[in-house]
Amino acid sequence: MSVRTRFAPSPTGYLHIGGVRTALFNWLFTRRHGGQFILRIDDTDVERNRPEALRPILDGFRWLGIMWDEGPEVGGPHAPYFQSQRLPLYQEAARKLVLAGQAYPCLATKEELETERRAAELAKRPYIHRGKGRNLSPEEALQLWQEKQLPLRLKVPLGRKIVLDDLIRKRVEWETDLLGDPVILRSDGTPLYNFATVVDDIAMKITHVIRAAEHLSNTPLQILIFEALGASLPAFAHVPVVNEPGSKKKLSKRDMKKFVTPEVRAKLRALGYTDAEIDSRDDLNPATVAYYQELGYLPQALVNYLGRLGWSLDGYSEIIPLETMIAHFSFERVNDAPASFDPDKLYWMAGEYMRQLSVEEKVWGVVPYLVRAKLITEPVDEATRHKIRRIVEACGDRLKLFSDILTYGAFFFRDPEYDESAFAKRVAKQGIPELLERFISVLERTEPFAPENLETVLREFCDRENVKAADLIHAVRVSTTGITVGPGLFDILAILGREESIRRIRLALARVQTPVQTGRN
Ligand code: GLU
Repeated sequence: MSVRTRFAPSPTGYLHIGGVRTALFNWLFTRRHGGQFILRIDDTDVERNRPEALRPILDGFRWLGIMWDEGPEVGGPHAPYFQSQRLPLYQEAARKLVLAGQAYPCLATKEELETERRAAELAKRPYIHRGKGRNLSPEEALQLWQEKQLPLRLKVPLGRKIVLDDLIRKRVEWETDLLGDPVILRSDGTPLYNFATVVDDIAMKITHVIRAAEHLSNTPLQILIFEALGASLPAFAHVPVVNEPGSKKKLSKRDMKKFVTPEVRAKLRALGYTDAEIDSRDDLNPATVAYYQELGYLPQALVNYLGRLGWSLDGYSEIIPLETMIAHFSFERVNDAPASFDPDKLYWMAGEYMRQLSVEEKVWGVVPYLVRAKLITEPVDEATRHKIRRIVEACGDRLKLFSDILTYGAFFFRDPEYDESAFAKRVAKQGIPELLERFISVLERTEPFAPENLETVLREFCDRENVKAADLIHAVRVSTTGITVGPGLFDILAILGREESIRRIRLALARVQTPVQTGRN
């Protein structure tokens, strides 16, 4: 039998990276076994679901290359793949359960249920509801249900033990006596999660239910629903949660905001976002896939990172090509303890993937960022393209994300924006302006104006002046770029060219004479 798995997101308006990790485990397992991966939209909660809330989910998976074999937009033999369009199927399954004496209409009023619940709370015992309707005959149950439009409950069998051999969690057991009879269909005919899920898992012939660990507690009820509907059970794998770094807290959208570092914020501002947008938009939240896409992470890096999060190939491999992940993915190597999300490791991994690209591919990737930051305009002419190529080469491994070009290369396209503290520390201090003046005359004569030669010339000059080369290097760097990070100084000067390098040093010198009181850092 062919492996069939599914991922069943609710359309929330964003694609959470924890969810992607679960979807990825489904997808890797399915690809390994040559089966079908189904995307099913859990949109029965009509109040919360907005139709446009699906777009980021589909776009996110497409960007990552996690393609679904059946589901929205691609269709498939079990369409529709939207639960909101499958209501008759749930109602039909519910009717079947009533006729088999496995489900009954709830005769208790809201007030009665509330009184029961409060009594249990006061007595400090679990609230387990078993309705009077349990004793109705199937015919009576069907009639009452249809006439009065009552909610429907599953009749949980008493005195049984449910045993699950989870592929990750191993053996888990529950006593049915501790489970109440759950509502499976509301009075308006809409299904509850546990019921709709099982009806669809049966209809769609799902062989492996691979989902977040938080659903483990739903599994005994789902197992009972499978049994009540006369279906065989799929295998279950409950994937441990992803926690925040160094914490036992699940990755939450609110808490993930703290990973928007000042550097990231500066890039997002350069891309035209306001601080209010950066603080509130889901697509700028590190808990969502869109954030990584926006910052120019390579999707392969995110896939590798999330695949490796809680799963291992061996004791040491970090960079694992997708084909290798597919060929070796198994639940035996999924750690059953929560995994910890590490943004620094993801950034490092992004760099490892970036390094595999050709310079030309990197140029393709950074151009849109330069355009959006209004540093260049399209169409990009040949000279600009050549310049970008040289900048990308000079950035080397510093460029881990396409947006890193804004951190390390923006100054090539506009005047330096001086970092005040760096300027005070490196340029506006005793002896440096005079030294820079004299160095300008050296630069005027340096031929060829190329990295290696510039380095030799600068070092010889410093020897003659009896100053440390590092001091002049820092001074020239801050004068010409405004900042302390970026490619090697000699590459920078060569790319700027003689005239522009000298113009910028003069700009800095003029600034020493008339300090600007902007307070910009
Ligand atoms: N919509 C549910 C969720 O996103 C699906 C759970 C399941 O896979 O059964 O958590």
